[in-house]
Amino acid sequence: MRRASRPYLTRRRLLALALGSGLLPLAARAQAVPAKVDVAVLGAGIAGLAAARLLSTRGISVAVLEARSRIGGRAYTDTQRFGLPVDLGALHLRSLELNPLVPLIREARIANQIEDGDFWLYEPGHEAASGDYDALGAALDRIDDALNDAKTARQDRALAALVPVMETRWADAARALAGPLHVGIEFAQVSALDAPRLTGTGNDLWLPGGLGAWVASLGAGLPIYLEKPVHAIEWSERGVTVGHAGGSLEARACIVALPLAVLATNGVSFRPEWPGPRREALGRLQIGAIERIALRYKPGSFEAAPSTQLFGPGPGADIDVARQAMQFRLNALGQPVVLASVGGAYARDLVRAGEATMIEAARQRLTKLLGPQIDGNFVDGMASRWGADPYSLGSHSVARPGAVAARRALAQPLGRVFFAGEHVAPPEWVSQLPGAWASGREAALAALKALA
Ligand SMILES: Cc1cc2nc3c(=O)[nH]c(=O)nc-3n(C[C@H](O)[C@H](O)[C@H](O)COP(=O)(O)OP(=O)(O)OC[C@H]3O[C@@H](n4cnc5c(N)ncnc54)[C@H](O)[C@@H]3O)c2cc1C
Repeated sequence: MRRASRPYLTRRRLLALALGSGLLPLAARAQAVPAKVDVAVLGAGIAGLAAARLLSTRGISVAVLEARSRIGGRAYTDTQRFGLPVDLGALHLRSLELNPLVPLIREARIANQIEDGDFWLYEPGHEAASGDYDALGAALDRIDDALNDAKTARQDRALAALVPVMETRWADAARALAGPLHVGIEFAQVSALDAPRLTGTGNDLWLPGGLGAWVASLGAGLPIYLEKPVHAIEWSERGVTVGHAGGSLEARACIVALPLAVLATNGVSFRPEWPGPRREALGRLQIGAIERIALRYKPGSFEAAPSTQLFGPGPGADIDVARQAMQFRLNALGQPVVLASVGGAYARDLVRAGEATMIEAARQRLTKLLGPQIDGNFVDGMASRWGADPYSLGSHSVARPGAVAARRALAQPLGRVFFAGEHVAPPEWVSQLPGAWASGREAALAALKALA
């Protein structure tokens, strides 16, 4: 791991998305939900949108019910607060060579950039020595090797138990990067079989116009009904009745593309109730906590390539590094914005403390790393609060050690109810956008088969 620059492989173009998160939802909000359709799709995140898109192309009548006043779910680009696109949820598409969403972006000619690979390691007030980069890099390699071995041997065990003792003074920082900051859960509570590899292919893609804005654009032309939280699903082998804020909807089949946490907290009741083993499977997955804090600075504040990662402080800092780590992206989306990420218990504490505390925490940490002169350029801040939002209640699903099979159990249909979302995604993309997308398409194909 080195502070290094790579030339951009794609030229920067401005993304001109006609359909951001506003236009289409406003049109749909005014309409009444129909009383009957072939397939009811619940949730307009990427999984629900993937399902609805596929079904619509097969001549099936669809209604997508969405609780929020916007679509895109946990992929969300805020364009209002800073007057600039800022991704407060999903940020980039990992392993672009393998990622099934990348061809869609390329076909649609959406402006995109490959992550430059810059990584700066800092201790308070100064850049870390090159030996520190090597030490942290070696510790991360050991963790990544353990992840790889666990996947090859299909070992559904705690990641912490599979990583050899790391003697480096950067061990806590490596654990934080692999645990709370990577999967939103402390290192010891993560199944090594479930957690994605740390680097993937090493090439990630980000969109200057915002990943959330692109996800929202996938809803163009679909019959989406906003501000229609679903509260009840009556299901059988013949069909489904969905109770929502505007009344009830009968459907021959239903795709439930709601977040795991909404299902786990009984946010939606099922009649008949879920069978015991299925409910048990639900309890075996955990909800990760990753939150983003965006700080706007005066233009030109950071001499850094777009999306440069900054991590620190390291050992010797006056914080519990393993628990309270924070990672920054300077010039996020190529703008004078710093995007800080926090994860795990620390993220949950900060969400409880409120947005102002989150902004202050990130601002102070950055000032400590880069020096007081940077704080004079600070303009404004905002933060996500996925953990406090009743329609997400966290960032994404994570299997406890020994619980990976729970995902398969939850993917099984109940009568004519089919399940989609990052928590039932194919193993290689679990908890990420491409997995949620693939699960939506799979659920739609299964519904089509049931209706044939
Ligand atoms: C901070 C953060 C960073 C992330 N970074 C990345 C990343 O860089 N790359 C990546 O690939 N993935 C990332 N992810 C994960 C990715 O965002 C998710 O895997 C993906 O968005 C999940 O899609 P989904 O359709 O399964 O769920 P969601 O996007 O949550 O969609 C579910 C929808 O259901 C709606 N809903 C909830 N309750 C109800 C109800 N009762 N009635 C009706 N509708 C309801 C919600 O409003 C939402 O629109 C990140 C997530 C977070 C939070």
